[in-house]
Amino acid sequence: MPQDSLFDDDRPAYPGPPLPDPRARPDSSLTRIREREPAYTPEERSARMAVVRDEALVCTRCELCQTRTHVVFGEGNVNTPLVLVGEGPGETEDATGRPFVGRAGKLLDEALAENGMTRQHVYICNVLKCRAALMENGRLKNRPPRVEEAAACRDWLDTQLAVIRPMVVLCLGSPAANALIHPNFAITRERGRWFTDSPYAPWIMAALHPAYILRQHGEGYDSARASLIRDVGAARLKCVELRKAARAAAGP
Ligand code: URA
Repeated sequence: MPQDSLFDDDRPAYPGPPLPDPRARPDSSLTRIREREPAYTPEERSARMAVVRDEALVCTRCELCQTRTHVVFGEGNVNTPLVLVGEGPGETEDATGRPFVGRAGKLLDEALAENGMTRQHVYICNVLKCRAALMENGRLKNRPPRVEEAAACRDWLDTQLAVIRPMVVLCLGSPAANALIHPNFAITRERGRWFTDSPYAPWIMAALHPAYILRQHGEGYDSARASLIRDVGAARLKCVELRKAARAAAGP
């Protein structure tokens, strides 16, 4: 487990609003997305996210509202510098309304724990808020979302990221990386690499999706799991470095 905690006094929540961005690009697309929402105090941010959540929970912008059990909006610490973004809810998430609560979620929890974190240190959400499923032999089966479903849902994620204004985003798997980094993202080649030109956060990276890792066997599983732990650790470390740099820049 790393020595230096994301929170220097080990409080379970990030103590203030996201740090000033040392790489601020005033005219860039970064501000275009983030400035859809004002810079909030921690209390204002929580209140605003609760309002957005309430609106999302009754969303009927696409046909997935007809087959979903619950909207899986996202959860965690809205005052965190680190947001994790997955693809979309599966069966367990649809049944509970919570992101990453099935087997993949357990693996994600392990990767957080290996890096000294819990869900209270980060915010976790998905590109898609409702389960994309089709009926097969009387049972709902996961399916890829249609273009129009993904497009209809996109505004919720953009708003979540604009409300939080994270310093670092970690995409879990290629659908999230395609949506937030670039559309031709090659997960095996580009995972673990920092990108600094995203409109969503000054630092953004992708890791293997936990569900993909669970489909590997033997050494393939071990190395894929280790890479997720490493990438979660790198994301956490980037937050620590950015915080130190911002403090140093602010002076004594
Ligand atoms: N896979 C995802 O991408 N998101 C979840 O919430 C669960 C599984």
